[in-house]
Amino acid sequence: MKPAPFEYHAPETLDEALALLAECGPDAKVLAGGQSLVPAMNFRLAAPSVLIDLNRVPELSYVREDSSAGIRIGAMTRQREVERSAPTAERAPLLHETMPHIAHPQIRNRGTMGGSVAHADPAAELPAVMLALEARLRACRRDEPDGRWIDAGEFFTGLFATALAPDELLVEIALPPLPARTGWAFREISRRHGDYALVGVAAVMTLDEAGLCERSRIALFSVGDGPVLARAAAAALAGEPVTDEAIRAAAAAVQRDIDPPGDIHASTAYRRHLAEVLTRQALARAAERARDGTEGA
Ligand SMILES: Cc1cc2nc3c(=O)[nH]c(=O)nc-3n(C[C@H](O)[C@H](O)[C@H](O)COP(=O)(O)OP(=O)(O)OC[C@H]3O[C@@H](n4cnc5c(N)ncnc54)[C@H](O)[C@@H]3O)c2cc1C
Repeated sequence: MKPAPFEYHAPETLDEALALLAECGPDAKVLAGGQSLVPAMNFRLAAPSVLIDLNRVPELSYVREDSSAGIRIGAMTRQREVERSAPTAERAPLLHETMPHIAHPQIRNRGTMGGSVAHADPAAELPAVMLALEARLRACRRDEPDGRWIDAGEFFTGLFATALAPDELLVEIALPPLPARTGWAFREISRRHGDYALVGVAAVMTLDEAGLCERSRIALFSVGDGPVLARAAAAALAGEPVTDEAIRAAAAAVQRDIDPPGDIHASTAYRRHLAEVLTRQALARAAERARDGTEGA
């Protein structure tokens, strides 16, 4: 099918894009990589009356090392660029490990970081990674060009829903540095590589000097309306020696954190089973990395 008719604008600066968003009203949508929006328009699941194409706004595309030793990523940065970026590998290794799991290289060549985060698909990898890494997301509007920062924990508000107002643009993602003695891991199961995951998990764990679990953040996806922070699982590990038994107990506690849907791809029971197994694997790998500080799979 072809999309419903729409008006098309191609601003060349962020200011122009923000002005258009303010003028065109809530029926306008921004076009980033188009990998989710264009299929939705072709199926007429989305019918915006105005499209504001961000592809000619170069100032939104970058990966920068930040003075605090974290990184900042412009919303229009292609997913493939992040996958291949050395600062991402060094400073945000969980994100780096995740990137190849998103769709296929052809889609990552076009798909953007901001597009995936703003789309807030409950089966998408990046929203969960944003939660696990405690990302901050900067949103700008015409009358507030410096924008406001939104914590990832407050950004995802429901099924394909975010805290962005209709006239706000997501412009930047900031990832803080990982503390010392921190490990990370990403796991997902999909039927074929590149398919949306049936369930996935991103985990970060920090050990204290005695080797006890100081803190962990475990975020799951494809188990609810949006990315889910597994608070019960993290609480089960806090202050504990990170033994196989403790990891097993924390992974079992994830059942209290999730309420997964059943559909033609996987039943609720199967998703629950996968969530527990993947959480156990991710926590074990994160603990291993936290202990020895090694990188790589
Ligand atoms: C075959 C196929 C398989 C895929 N598999 C996966 C997968 O396994 N995992 C996964 O996560 N994704 C997958 N995707 C989706 C892909 O990752 C998209 O790139 C991503 O969801 C959207 O990014 P985009 O840049 O293409 O955004 P677009 O499609 O251009 O936009 C998506 C939505 O976000 C809004 N938006 C975009 N940028 C901004 C911004 N800066 N501020 C505010 N709103 C904005 C748009 O208005 C639109 O509503 C797949 C896509 C395809 C076609």
